[in-house]
Parts: sequence; structure tokens; C-alpha cells
Amino acid sequence: MISVKNLHVYYGLIEAVKGIDFEVKEGEIISLIGSNGAGKSSTLKALLNSVKKTGDINFLGYDTRNHKTHTLVQHGLSLVPEGRKIFINLTVEENLRMGAFNNDENYEHLKDAMYELFPRIKDKRYQLAGTMSGGEQQMLAISRALMGEPKLLMLDEPSLGLAPKIVGEVFEIIQRLRNEGITILLVEQNAFAALKISDKAYVLENGKIVMSGIASDMIGDDAIRKKYLGG
Ligand code: ATP
Repeated sequence: MISVKNLHVYYGLIEAVKGIDFEVKEGEIISLIGSNGAGKSSTLKALLNSVKKTGDINFLGYDTRNHKTHTLVQHGLSLVPEGRKIFINLTVEENLRMGAFNNDENYEHLKDAMYELFPRIKDKRYQLAGTMSGGEQQMLAISRALMGEPKLLMLDEPSLGLAPKIVGEVFEIIQRLRNEGITILLVEQNAFAALKISDKAYVLENGKIVMSGIASDMIGDDAIRKKYLGG
């Protein structure tokens, strides 16, 4: 679905990502894990062509260098950004409408599908999004991204700031989306939760991939447990 070769990301003189390679195949859940500042968010932004970068990124046969962010979204690449970035002064339903900016003809059908997936946001559909709980806002952010009918859904730290019960709900939804045919690229500091639902994972440190493998093997590996999973 997407392959990334020799990706570098720059912010002025800072090199945030230093030549990484990875791929995500159709139907997989792949995680990028690593601590603060490792370069995970920068990698996702690079895939959407929204930061300065070099390297080859091929998404469904497109060389992403030749496409603007909104065109990549139209081709099926969607990001649920870190911190959700929902429109706090718009209602839940208006946020969903924004997510369907390139998909107007399917709006009603998709909106109903989102309300079925997340009954909690249906109950609040006329409420201002900024007044909802953190968990509800995360669910809205995921719904908004799904309104574009992505083939590859990228989620940046979906567990951030959520109570453990809600984290569990969000991760269950991610698995359900995969079962419905959406490929997932997940960025998480909560490495254990991410590995539990992933097929494969890549560990980023200081802009480089220092380890990669089958997620279940990584959970079972003592050295990895000690270093990245809090024992
Ligand atoms: P976090 O989980 O804390 O977001 P991360 O792994 O996603 O961490 P990035 O946000 O990709 O890491 O940041 C990687 C490096 O790039 C960090 O050193 C960060 O300070 C730097 N960086 C990120 N965005 C910018 C920016 N807009 N301008 C300058 N430096 C930046």
C-alpha cells in the first residue's frame, strides 16, 4: 500500500528523520513506536507531503512527491493528527461535514455509518466539539478522517491523554476498522497497547529505525520489554 525509502525530514537545520525505510501492506496494522521527539509525527507528516523531506514514498503506485496533501487525501490517505485538532467551535456534525470535503455525495451515508460506529458522538451531534470529553473528541477525530473513506488511515498518538478504559475502546475500534478493510499506520508512545493490536512494528530513536519485527515476537522479547515496554 505504501513504501518509504530513505526518508529524511528537515525543519530548517534540524534533521528530524534520518533516512528510514518501511512499508505497510494492504490489510495490516503497522506501528511506529518510540519516545518523545523520535520523529514519529514527522514521518506521518512526510507521508502527506506536508513537511520538507527527501526520499521516495510510493502510495498505491503514486510517487507522493508529485501530489499535494489534499490530492493524497483524495487518493485515500488520511491522518488523525496528534492532539486530535478537531474544529472546537463547530458542532460534531459540522466536523463530520468538513471531513467529507472531497466526498460530498457520500456524506449522509458515511455520517450514519460513523454514528453507528460511535453511538456516543451521535448523542452529541449538535454539541460544540470543544465541549466534549477527550475520548469523545478522539472518536470524532477518527470519524472525521473516516469521512474521506481512506484506504490507509494514519493515527498519531490516539491514546494520548485518555483514561485506560477509553484507550481500550479506541484500540478496539482500530482493530474493527482493519477488519472492515482499512489499512492502519499507528504512531504510539503507548508501545504495549500498540504492539498488542499490530502485525509489525518499527522502533524509532533519534530519527532512525533501531529495531523492527513481528509485533507479537517483540512483546515476547525480554530485552524489548525492558527497554520499550516498561518491563
Ligand atoms: P512526540 O511524540 O513528542 O510528538 P515524535 O516522535 O512524534 O514525538 P516529532 O514530533 O516528529 O517526534 O519530532 C522529531 C524532532 O523534530 C524533534 O526533535 C522535534 O523537536 C523536531 N520538530 C518537530 N516539529 C518541528 C518544527 N515544526 N520545527 C522545528 N523542529 C521540529
